[in-house]
Amino acid sequence: MDKERIKLLNIYVDNINMKEAVDEVEKLANSSKYNYVVTPNVAHVVFLEEDKEFKEVYDNADLILTDGMPLIWISKYFKCPIKEKVSGSDLFPLICERAAINGHKIFILGAAEGVAKTAADKLCEKYKNLNVVGTYSPPYGFEEDKKEVKKVIDIVNEAEPHILFVGLGAPKQEKFIYKYRDELKVPVSLGIGAAIDFQAGNIKRAPRWMQSSGLEGFYRFFKEPKRMFKRVFIDDFKIFPLVFKYKNQRM
Ligand code: UDP
Repeated sequence: MDKERIKLLNIYVDNINMKEAVDEVEKLANSSKYNYVVTPNVAHVVFLEEDKEFKEVYDNADLILTDGMPLIWISKYFKCPIKEKVSGSDLFPLICERAAINGHKIFILGAAEGVAKTAADKLCEKYKNLNVVGTYSPPYGFEEDKKEVKKVIDIVNEAEPHILFVGLGAPKQEKFIYKYRDELKVPVSLGIGAAIDFQAGNIKRAPRWMQSSGLEGFYRFFKEPKRMFKRVFIDDFKIFPLVFKYKNQRM
């Protein structure tokens, strides 16, 4: 499939639906290169406006999927509609379902201690032949410590997965994948945020109707008001001046 890559605000996105995204990841998992996937949402777009390192990660991504209804609405407003929301949280179990069929080995990295393992156990219960070759939840702040980073790389190398899921929150997870991709040596890595928590049942995900109405952020705010307030009501709202800025650039 030839993907259509379209410009949206300060990023490019691949205009594909969920099924096509699973096919693409499967293809990348068979590749001899070390590919990675990013799943932009409004918060990423806001960070990208100022964070050059994060922008470099985005500029080199092999697959760029649209995570969240607000970006879908913005694409319609800009008259370059994106086919479907493809969030990391929805994609994660679907890739595992496909991997269970075609034998790709997966590794789950991130979340709080024990959570990645619980997520793996639940996924293996659901998808009988799923081959999870490892899970690891590194201590918070590990990326600042060379020894800890090496430990993570060694654990992943030893397991030799085809697909690496990384849940360290954005932009940490994307920067980690980008910086160490040649050492991790995994055919495809994906930053999936809180998806590991959702699969483990550690954090409850918003009901479907809220996900499809663009209200998932508000749901997370009500669940964790202290942590999410700044993100939902300050950072995410910075999207409005950006829509205005990029709308004017197009005219
Ligand atoms: N997390 C982590 N290490 C860190 C920071 C975050 O393992 O240094 C984990 C956190 O436990 C959670 C996940 O990253 O499981 C996603 O965090 P967040 O909700 O910030 O991500 P988002 O989905 O909003 O990108």
